[in-house]
Amino acid sequence: MRLNLQLFAVPFRRTSKTKKRMRRTHLKKEVGVITACPKCGANLRPHRACAKCGYYKNEDVLHVKQDEE
Ligand SMILES: [Zn+2]
Repeated sequence: MRLNLQLFAVPFRRTSKTKKRMRRTHLKKEVGVITACPKCGANLRPHRACAKCGYYKNEDVLHVKQDEE
């Protein structure tokens, strides 16, 4: 079976490493919103209970065990 190359667009030249990398500088993952826990100060995403102390809206919702110091 022969492929007729005139049926679809073919790149005139290979994209160079630099050009490819310049294009991909905009393709990056966004950094999510991070807030501090008002109780223990750990990094936290908004509207989520704190994994360290288990508090959300000044209420212990996860009942995380606190290690004694
Ligand atoms: Zn906390």
